[in-house]
Amino acid sequence: MFRTFLIKYGEIAIKGKNRHLFEDALVKQICHALRPVDGKFHVYKEQGRIYIDCGSQEDPENGMFDFEGTVEALKCVFGIVGICPVLKVEDRGIEQLGTDVIGFLEQAYDVHGQTFKVAARRARKSYPIESMEVDRVLGGRILEAFPQMRVDVHEPEIMLHVEIREKIYIYSKIIPGPGGMPVGTNGKAMLLLSGGIDSPVAGYMICKRGVRIDATYFHAPPYTSERAKQKVVDLARRIAKYAGPIDLHVVNFTDIQLYIYDQCPHDELTIIMRRYMMRIAEHFAKETGSLALVTGESIGQVASQTMQSLAATNEVCTIPVFRPLIGFDKQEIVNVAERIDTYETSILPYEDCCTIFVAKHPVTKPNLNVIRRSEQKLNEKIDELVRTAIETTETIRVW
Ligand code: ATP
Ligand code: MG
Repeated sequence: MFRTFLIKYGEIAIKGKNRHLFEDALVKQICHALRPVDGKFHVYKEQGRIYIDCGSQEDPENGMFDFEGTVEALKCVFGIVGICPVLKVEDRGIEQLGTDVIGFLEQAYDVHGQTFKVAARRARKSYPIESMEVDRVLGGRILEAFPQMRVDVHEPEIMLHVEIREKIYIYSKIIPGPGGMPVGTNGKAMLLLSGGIDSPVAGYMICKRGVRIDATYFHAPPYTSERAKQKVVDLARRIAKYAGPIDLHVVNFTDIQLYIYDQCPHDELTIIMRRYMMRIAEHFAKETGSLALVTGESIGQVASQTMQSLAATNEVCTIPVFRPLIGFDKQEIVNVAERIDTYETSILPYEDCCTIFVAKHPVTKPNLNVIRRSEQKLNEKIDELVRTAIETTETIRVW
């Protein structure tokens, strides 16, 4: 019976002039999310509300759509706090509205002795009856039709919302959305995406705040395989369900790694490699309009994520580096990864470029002066290798 959804979004973030930007971005993201879902969808704004008409409204027999699939897709759209399946009816007077409401309850519930409350809202002020009077009349009709039901104005089991606008919208269920802000309302950032558990979650978290992302992945063929790269593409695709289209830059890092391996003390390898990753990711960020870098680091998780190591990788960046997982325990990160469906892919056992060249005992408290001196040994040759890596980078659009 439900062919329309009312979309609720957080009001606080959208006071004033930014409101229409927020709403337009939300409409755009909803359309993007619904593209793979079976059915025809019409997404529109009306008086500070967003509605989605599903299937063909005029010809319901013809307009089948995938209800469950629609809800699942909407649960991935940041900015949505509630997804309400609504029954949309014409205004044919209060008598008919009572009949519509009774029909709604019959179809939506196995009516027994539930408690209920009617909450009418008269958004169209020309409607002749005040909302409290609407509550009273509809409540009376419900009690007549279902004598076993009872009114409870404080904690009703069924909260029946009736919104009176051009049409009238009846709903009682609010399916929670993911919250956050619509992607595209807060600029763009460059995610350093590995095949691990953490960085996909970091990408998800930054997108939740309305930031669009691109991604950079460093691989080291033939030390890392085509399958390892495919895994990262799959992860990007899973994030794109929330993030929208992502440009994934795949950088061939082999020669840089081998050269660093050759020239620098091995216990400093990871840190120096990281610094080159940051430099290259920043290059692509600047070239494509990203205002920050994003990593999956969390304090103390491994040797390269001590405070000293984070400071050492940070030093080479001129744009902000955001680390949304900085205060998360591993298990907390895993929980999010499972929820957003990246975990199973992340734990596939393909090699990572960092684990191949890793030292047995990496420095945990790198000294910046020492690291800088080691890097000096890399000379102009490293600049040339970086240039080549940038020039040969493959960009894959994932969505
Ligand atoms: P993850 O689970 O995200 O791989 P991790 O726990 O393995 O993280 P590190 O290997 O220290 O931690 O990597 C820290 C961060 O550096 C990652 O979260 C990611 O943002 C970035 N990074 C590491 N390796 C790569 C890579 N091959 N390509 C792109 N980014 C990388
Ligand atoms: Mg990793």
